Amino acid sequence: LSQLFRPLDMLGWVYRTIRQGVIDMGAMFDLIDTRAEVQDVPNAPALDVTRGEVRFEGVRFGYDKGRDILKGIDLTILPGQTVAVVGPSGAGKSTLARILYRFYDLNGGRVTIDGQDISQVTQASLRAAIGIVPQDTVLFNDTVGYNIAYGREGATAEQVAAAARGAAIAGFIESMPNGYDTRVGERGLKLSGGEKQRVAIARTLLKDPPILILDEATSALDSRTEAEILDTLEAIERGRTTIVIAHRLSTVVNADRIVVLEGGRIVEQGTHAQLLEARGVYAEMWTRQQAEREAVAEAAE
Ligand code: ATP
Repeated sequence: LSQLFRPLDMLGWVYRTIRQGVIDMGAMFDLIDTRAEVQDVPNAPALDVTRGEVRFEGVRFGYDKGRDILKGIDLTILPGQTVAVVGPSGAGKSTLARILYRFYDLNGGRVTIDGQDISQVTQASLRAAIGIVPQDTVLFNDTVGYNIAYGREGATAEQVAAAARGAAIAGFIESMPNGYDTRVGERGLKLSGGEKQRVAIARTLLKDPPILILDEATSALDSRTEAEILDTLEAIERGRTTIVIAHRLSTVVNADRIVVLEGGRIVEQGTHAQLLEARGVYAEMWTRQQAEREAVAEAAE
């Protein structure tokens, strides 16, 4: 009998693996109109993450022939550091994250993790090493427990609960009559943007990747939710190499380094204080966003 079920088991595994991959990528990269273009090189070894150093070396990339979106990016992110990438809309911030996940191959240069060119290792091992908290989390039409648990194959109920605690959503889940068995999605409980993001954070805590990409929500969360999520995010960034794709600046103040991308090039980098002092692009963006915030706050009064 077990002979009979083995292929089914295998199918189930393939299905789960593909589905997880699709959800992880689809959430961030809008898979629908994109085809998988990259392939493993023959006999590619698995990525071996020892320290978690991420390095972009002369990276050039464009979606269309003749139009480079990234025009020579040199960037080293030391193990455990948090680097925030900011810049105007269309500057190439999300593209940089997609490149690290090797969603596309480059037109020039290379990306390495602990000295290994990511185009020369298996995609499966690369993607296992990187956790993504996307802007808009896609949840399965299933229980909240399931939605957290698929961060790690075979996670126990206790591990799921610990991850939910880490993401500060355990209290909310446990206050519901069915707890972790509460269904979410179209036919179940509707979660707010902030709650969905916490589920994604819990999932990522369970996956426990050495490298993290946070794609900060563009849609405005209310300022209390934003402050709460920021605390949680800081907790998961600890001890991991993190890239924060920041569409707003309020979240980047505490990053170890801020990189300003404009027109596919790094035009400035430094800490928040250094960049304000430099009175360049970042300082201008900061002043403008502060003014906008104040205007919104005044209008709300
Ligand atoms: P935002 O802050 O608005 O999200 P961003 O800095 O993250 O912007 P990217 O999403 O990296 O910008 O896009 C950079 C450029 O690449 C844009 O001009 C965009 O139109 C283009 N682009 C993004 N995705 C694709 C795609 N799948 N195919 C073709 N061009 C794309």
